Amino acid sequence: MKNKERHVFLYCTVCSNRNYTTGKRARADYKLEKKKFCPFCRKHTVHKERKL
Ligand SMILES: [Zn+2]
Repeated sequence: MKNKERHVFLYCTVCSNRNYTTGKRARADYKLEKKKFCPFCRKHTVHKERKL
């Protein structure tokens, strides 16, 4: 089977800018949620995934 990994955006939940992309297993049924640095907010914020 191809494409076991798909790419998703991680977007800032504060300003909604899509700051990161990351790989994720295609069948994973969880939502990614990570604290990352947002260059727009200029601080660490919670980033959530969104499909490419
Ligand atoms: Zn932000």
